[in-house]
Amino acid sequence: MLIDNLHTIQVVLPIPFADRLTYLVPDALSHIKIMAGMRVIVPFRNKKLVAIVFDSLSSPYNKNLKSIIEIIDSKPFLPKKSLTFLYQVHRYYLQPLGEVVFTSIPKWFKNSTNPALPKEIWWQLKNQPSDEKIVSQLKSNKQQKIYQYLQKNGPLQSRSMTHIEATASAQCQALYKKNLLLKSDLCFVDAHPPADPDFILTDDQQKAVDTIRSNMGFHPYLLDGITGSGKTEVYIRLVKQLVNEGKQALVLVPEIGLTPQLFHEFAKRIHGRVCVFHSGLTAVARARAWVKAKSGEIDVIVATRSGIFTPFTNLAMIIVDEEHDLSFKQQDGFRYSARDLAVMRGKMENIPVLLGSATPSLESFNNAKNNKYHWLKLRERTNKQALPRIDILDVRTHKMQKGLSKQVLNQINEEINKGNQALVFLNRRGWSPKLSCQECGWVAESDQCDTYLTYHKHIHRLRCHHCERVYSIPEFCPGCGSQKIETMGIGTEKIHHGLLNHLKDVKVIRVDRDTVKTANQWQRTIDEIKSGVPCVMVGTQMLSKGHDFPNLTLVIIVNVDNSFFSLDFRATEHLSQLMIQVSGRAGRKHKTGKVVIQTQCPEHEFFQLLLGKGYQDYALHELEQRQAIGFPPASYMAIIRARSKNEKTVNDFFENILEHSIDNPTVSIMGPIPAPIYKKMGQYQMQLIFNGNHRQSLHNSLKQITDFIRSGKLNNNIIWSLDIDPINLS
Ligand code: ADP
Ligand code: ZN
Repeated sequence: MLIDNLHTIQVVLPIPFADRLTYLVPDALSHIKIMAGMRVIVPFRNKKLVAIVFDSLSSPYNKNLKSIIEIIDSKPFLPKKSLTFLYQVHRYYLQPLGEVVFTSIPKWFKNSTNPALPKEIWWQLKNQPSDEKIVSQLKSNKQQKIYQYLQKNGPLQSRSMTHIEATASAQCQALYKKNLLLKSDLCFVDAHPPADPDFILTDDQQKAVDTIRSNMGFHPYLLDGITGSGKTEVYIRLVKQLVNEGKQALVLVPEIGLTPQLFHEFAKRIHGRVCVFHSGLTAVARARAWVKAKSGEIDVIVATRSGIFTPFTNLAMIIVDEEHDLSFKQQDGFRYSARDLAVMRGKMENIPVLLGSATPSLESFNNAKNNKYHWLKLRERTNKQALPRIDILDVRTHKMQKGLSKQVLNQINEEINKGNQALVFLNRRGWSPKLSCQECGWVAESDQCDTYLTYHKHIHRLRCHHCERVYSIPEFCPGCGSQKIETMGIGTEKIHHGLLNHLKDVKVIRVDRDTVKTANQWQRTIDEIKSGVPCVMVGTQMLSKGHDFPNLTLVIIVNVDNSFFSLDFRATEHLSQLMIQVSGRAGRKHKTGKVVIQTQCPEHEFFQLLLGKGYQDYALHELEQRQAIGFPPASYMAIIRARSKNEKTVNDFFENILEHSIDNPTVSIMGPIPAPIYKKMGQYQMQLIFNGNHRQSLHNSLKQITDFIRSGKLNNNIIWSLDIDPINLS
């Protein structure tokens, strides 16, 4: 749209208090055609900031306006479709327009002093990824190593391979001279004819593909398929066809760690240019991927949640894999759900949106049940392998040795002796979650947060898992002076230690944030596990997601009982998803898997339902309960959170809000109540929970309240946020 005959333009800036600002176009720049979506540089509070021209305007000429300084682009940087989408997002989440727009743009483009994108070198194999002969012909052992590593993990920059070969860069150059590698300027695979042939689809897969192909306008689909039922194959088949027709697809995954796997599946099978996009890439790589998707030079992007904002020329499908995963929700700043935005964007672009999961979120389950989403089911594993058997082990009737029962230890030993792998899953790092006095009951607590401190043995210190502050161990109890201070409960570190003690000569790999800190360490750990060496892994949820470990046959899940006592109404939903996802790791290739759950509540109806009948029955039952109490997905929810170093400030903030909010009979307001962890990092946190049956009516209330807060009449010493469709109450 043309705005050039006007003297002013409206722009958005990354600021919270105004949606748009008006600037003057000075005479010196008036010969340039300014279009919506272009970037300009404007003066703002003594700074020069990048701003985005928004839409046409009709603001009257006003000589107090400031002038723009420079026009960066000659064509719209953000396409019209993106502007429309971002505007809708801003309306839905009630976030300042500028924050929404600037969240959607790669960091590189937000800095007015950044030059043109510098060169980066990414290496990938020139030949088909399955060419084994080349490896055997390479004389240099170092080159073999690099070649094989790229075969599995490429494209990569040489610095991501220095952990396997220090001279990676030189080896890449040498292989390039031998005409075995390709260079590219970003992490993407060049289009080449697919190496691997297609499977013959199962009946369920075929039906899913046909149904979606028959209706390529906007339609949300729930691809509800048990682990190992071949959901990925359905994605690939659909995307393959689209790419052959010259169209683009966006594939979202919950975590960076899952991008390489899916990226390679697509790259192997599709005759197109496939690229990854996530926050683990360099700013330059992200910027380049974004630009190439926008210009149509990339066909498929495999991305984490922020990828939902990528502009495309010809987007034809959005896929959200593991749609139930909480990582799709941004949990600070601008709190959006990439899954929900996928549906919103699909509607705007009039294209299908495919949500896949073995354990659909209750939201999607409910939508499928009410025929808002088309429900596609894959009910069999492609290899006809049975799902793993799940046993419940009552820890009250078994003697525990560092957190594991004798029986479990024996089972682990057996699997290892057969050459298999076992996994002990526990969502708690450190040695033990509590240190307390046996005489008076004193417990070591964080100074800054309302939590107990976790004991970490390898540093022989206590650590707060909320603020990460470290404390030394008191010699005497600060409460009564006794020396009987002991640790209580188990964490990954303790289980690891116990396994090393009880299973001599067995390899134990611990995977948590204390042992795996960098992307390279993570890659090395995953490489080792996937190589299939017999071992026991002890890990937190880092290990629970979509990774395929072919040799894993036994999964032990420890300490799930907290969920039954949680204040969060979604706790058991998350537990059921976790249990099924973790157990889905077992027995994938040709081996049958087994799962053992250690619990103190074996008779809980949760286990009867989930294990006796399965996820679908559990979800139906849970849905009825939500309906009975009037909670999501049977209602719509939002939370306003606020925190301050001063308790009174937080209280006053909420009191003020309540005083000024207009009555709305369709919305119930709970609170203000203290957050589950009231004091965190020295700040007091409170929240106000809104629950209502009508989305629009709830929205109206929230709009009125946030407008009031943003009008600036309240105390500035407060940090507040609005969370629409929260996924937890903490
Ligand atoms: P899911 O994502 O549903 O857990 P996957 O897509 O990982 O399942 O598929 C499980 C395995 O089945 C993979 O190894 C995949 O290559 C294989 N597979 C998929 N579809 C078929 C098919 N139609 N015939 C044979 N094997 C298949
Ligand atoms: Zn703390």
